[in-house]
Amino acid sequence: MTQHTTRRECMNLTEIYGNNVFNDQVMRQTLPKEIYKSLRQTIEEGLPLDPQVAEVVASVMKDWAIDKGATHFTHWFQPLTGITAEKHDSFISPTPDGRVILEFSGKELIKGEPDASSFPSGGLRATFEARGYTAWDYTSPAFVKDGTLYIPTAFASYTGEALDKKTPLLRSMDALNRQALRVLRALGNKTVKRVTTTVGPEQEYFLIDKKLFDERQDLILTGRTLFGAKPPKGQELEDHYFGQIKDRVAAFMADVDTELWKLGVAAKTEHNEVAPSQHELAPIFSTTNIATDHNQLTMETMRKVALRHGLVCLLHEKPFAGINGSGKHNNWSMGTNEGQNLLDPGKDPHQNAQFLLFLSAVIKAVDEYAEILRMSAASPGNDHRLGANEAPPAIISIFLGEQLTDILTQIEAGGATKSKSGGTMNLGATALPSWAKDSTDRNRTSPFAFTGNKFEFRMVGSMQSIAQANFTLNTIVAESLSLFADRLEKAADVQKESASIVLEVIRKNKRVIFNGNNYSEDWVVEAKKRGLPNIGNMVDAIAAITAEKNVAVMGKHGVLSPVEMESRAEIQYEIYIKTINIEALTMVEMAKRRILPAVLNYKGDLASSITAIMAVDGNTEVETALFAQISQLVRSFSNNLTALEEAVKTAAHLHGDAKKQAEAYRDLVFKAMAELRKDADMLETMVDEDYWPMPTYAKLLFNL
Ligand code: ADP
Ligand code: MG
Repeated sequence: MTQHTTRRECMNLTEIYGNNVFNDQVMRQTLPKEIYKSLRQTIEEGLPLDPQVAEVVASVMKDWAIDKGATHFTHWFQPLTGITAEKHDSFISPTPDGRVILEFSGKELIKGEPDASSFPSGGLRATFEARGYTAWDYTSPAFVKDGTLYIPTAFASYTGEALDKKTPLLRSMDALNRQALRVLRALGNKTVKRVTTTVGPEQEYFLIDKKLFDERQDLILTGRTLFGAKPPKGQELEDHYFGQIKDRVAAFMADVDTELWKLGVAAKTEHNEVAPSQHELAPIFSTTNIATDHNQLTMETMRKVALRHGLVCLLHEKPFAGINGSGKHNNWSMGTNEGQNLLDPGKDPHQNAQFLLFLSAVIKAVDEYAEILRMSAASPGNDHRLGANEAPPAIISIFLGEQLTDILTQIEAGGATKSKSGGTMNLGATALPSWAKDSTDRNRTSPFAFTGNKFEFRMVGSMQSIAQANFTLNTIVAESLSLFADRLEKAADVQKESASIVLEVIRKNKRVIFNGNNYSEDWVVEAKKRGLPNIGNMVDAIAAITAEKNVAVMGKHGVLSPVEMESRAEIQYEIYIKTINIEALTMVEMAKRRILPAVLNYKGDLASSITAIMAVDGNTEVETALFAQISQLVRSFSNNLTALEEAVKTAAHLHGDAKKQAEAYRDLVFKAMAELRKDADMLETMVDEDYWPMPTYAKLLFNL
């Protein structure tokens, strides 16, 4: 049954790492030299692929995969559902004499033709126009998993519109590369060939016992609890964060690591998170595209491995009300093929003109395109985090920290002459080491924080693909860089022009910089004064997709066309509508078939015992009071149940106008769900636990 891999069994880590990946080392060893060189150059410089090269690669890749036990191959893609899709084909090809040979052609490697009609297309595809294509993304390595060769691919319609998350991501990486190179060239850099964006996503999740999970229809159907009273103990003691990892969880983590390492996913850090039963896994960063694929693999692997351990991995942004939700910290930076991190301030950032220019590009982008960036983290699940009273808030602002803020302040006042340093850290005991202190403290409340040599975008939801956040970031930063390049390329004195660009950004965009506590009420007021948008829910956030300036910027950089943008807005509305609808229907069913019968049972038994006690001593004060309270709550619960059913009917009726319908689901259905929940959660605290029809929060969260 459960397999426990101990850390010791994983000691041959260097051997298993990347063992199932058709990575650079394997390619170098297996491909003919010329082919390898050509493919390498194609990947590194982002060139188009030579079909003859593909033919050879396919054949070699097939032999390698068969060696690893693969019988099938699949084009693995990321449709707009947010999860991955795959269709498996075996390598077999029959011969006239009744046998089979194993084949895999360059054509099969490069292109697939899945039926596109059953994936969301936002009106781009009618069901009868089913043809879609998958195209090999050779910048993300293929791998073998469960007897199948997985080939990362992009997914597009017959007419060439992107129907997935990878296509715009790859396009945005090209866009950023183009514009960053222009800026670097203008600054005098002649050698850099490519600038890539890098990402390390920290993944949060909950683990709960599978047996308890199976008793909760809401978890099974929606991934979150729709009912559940607050347990007597939550996260207030702060005893879970970084706490000792329990054996069962440690065994799970060790297994996940092993699986991920085999797939070349550099799982690095694991710890307990703030909420009980909540944990985090962080990989070592890689290029955005690979990081996005790897994050999908990480989520899939965690889900699968959990089951082996009798656990369920909950990736929902808010599985439990009143308890911290889960997010994904999207650590983002830009780096050159020469190994330089463009967001590394170096020792004296105030003199580092190139760094200040790239930093300014990010500040400008985040301020001027806050709405579309906010949208990139919008999901029904994330609505419970963003804009609710937990991390991070829905207002986009940037934490820069003391050192950089000080430099920008100096520049604005006429010129920067020094960079503050952190000084030396001395803990006051000779037995403890001393070290050079970081120039800046951390800020855990900021949605977009500078953390030394990268920005950490903390809004992304735990279940979301990180593709959207990153193609948005890449594109809006590419836009800043393109405007900078336009000026630098024309400037007589590049240094002077560069300095004045930085100064202009400080003046114009400094409103987005905020180093204080983002959770405070004061910040909400202050942000409003500064004119920063505060978009509290997904339905409102979606409007950004079709806003003129955002359509323009995505179009200008060739990331998404106006038609593609429109279809994506449509899909987001659909996702919201469907999600809330499923949640509401699940609530109705649980209310009718579980909670109500249980409470009525209890009420009936209470009534019988009141009659019985009455006959013995005539004093039923306590029982009668309880009975009255429960009766009143049941009545309210029943009324609210009817109200929710009505709300669903009304909202469902509005189909045809996605925006209007989504608004109705938010304003009518979602509200009615909250009302119904209130009564049920109150009843849960009063009804005998033997009668209660599902495991409580205390059981779910403190059971492992
Ligand atoms: P913390 O946020 O707890 O300080 P780390 O400093 O370990 O954690 O980094 C968190 C994540 O940031 C890791 O996944 C790490 O690989 C990633 N990261 C580090 N440097 C970069 C970079 N240049 N670009 C993108 N991600 C990075
Ligand atoms: Mg972090």
